[in-house]
Amino acid sequence: MDKIVGIDLGTTNSSIAIVEAGMPGLLADSDGKRLMPSVVNYPSEGKPVTGHAAQRILVIEPKRTVCAIKRFIGSRLQDLSESDYSLEYQIGGNPIVVKIGNQQYTPEEISAEILSSLKAQATEVLGYPVDRAVITVPAYFNDAQRQATKRAGEMAGFSVERIINEPTAAALACGLEKLPEQSRVAVYDLGGGTFDLSILELREGIFQVLSTHGNTRLGGDDVDECICDWLLNEIGPTTGDDSMRARIREAAEKAKVDLSTLDSVEIKLPFITSDSNFECQLTRKQLESLARPVIDRTRSHCIQALADAGLKAEELCQVILVGGQTRMPLVCRLVADWFGCVDYQETRGDVRIGESFHEAKGPILNTFNNPDEAVALGAAIQG
Ligand code: AMP
Repeated sequence: MDKIVGIDLGTTNSSIAIVEAGMPGLLADSDGKRLMPSVVNYPSEGKPVTGHAAQRILVIEPKRTVCAIKRFIGSRLQDLSESDYSLEYQIGGNPIVVKIGNQQYTPEEISAEILSSLKAQATEVLGYPVDRAVITVPAYFNDAQRQATKRAGEMAGFSVERIINEPTAAALACGLEKLPEQSRVAVYDLGGGTFDLSILELREGIFQVLSTHGNTRLGGDDVDECICDWLLNEIGPTTGDDSMRARIREAAEKAKVDLSTLDSVEIKLPFITSDSNFECQLTRKQLESLARPVIDRTRSHCIQALADAGLKAEELCQVILVGGQTRMPLVCRLVADWFGCVDYQETRGDVRIGESFHEAKGPILNTFNNPDEAVALGAAIQG
């Protein structure tokens, strides 16, 4: 078998997809999980641990556990902002290396660990080895970052057939290459730790990036942080130690995810202080007022990307929502409002619900059933 897999090598999560019998699909791990946290733990002895297992160790061994390595790939120390230094693990050198104990690892090597795990996962599910891959990168990645991503793929044993832009992959996953020539679409991508808005134009069947604008430090994690602060206020004085904060963060994220489908949730934190349990209710309405300032921060990037492309929102035919945080109904509502969306389309697998490439003034809001899977699916289609 000589199939090409598609890989979304994300800041927060990564995933691998393949097209089988004409249908793109994600390949799950042995526990049925389709997204793998982009986390690598280097134990003092033995092989690196990746994904969910590494994420569990993160709280216990923050100095030996690397997350969000994508922020450093192909970058120099002078490219980084001050907030990049506020990591638990140590970075240094030029080009950048991550220092763990007395070992040093390059961002390519660390990314290669994630890619190797995805390769192993795909090989196990498919029952044959996968050696060829298309890997996605943000549209704003420069040549050094693209080359470094390619090298990471090669270190993991892939022949990297192509590096493609994440918004292009998302558009392919929606089947938008079938739109009329010169159609323009916006891809609004809000993940765990990054946000970008890209404007694409279809020219001779290929999507060209007209503009891209965003913030590599804005995403669902900021919403979690707002819920955490609210919870800490409700709980009152605590010991404030790291493991307690980690538990509160976990509860905050779970409540946020559940409130995308429920109107209200119970948050229970047993023994959160030495002598008491904590219980409270959080409604979707309350969550929305906590999250709104974070989501509002994405708006200026949308305005800037449109201005850079020299376009008005009504000249777009679609606005595609990708990234896990766009599952929040508030995000759909606000983006639809900002772009003046007139209609709604949902993509599930390759089934498009309410397909209406009509002549209406204003773009269609295109949402995925699983918006955090769109990029890998598009990469597999490209493959
Ligand atoms: P990504 O980087 O695209 O994998 O997105 C990860 C972010 O999406 C994290 O902040 C998650 O908490 C968030 N997320 C995942 N599922 C949901 C959901 N159902 N509702 C709201 N946010 C979600």
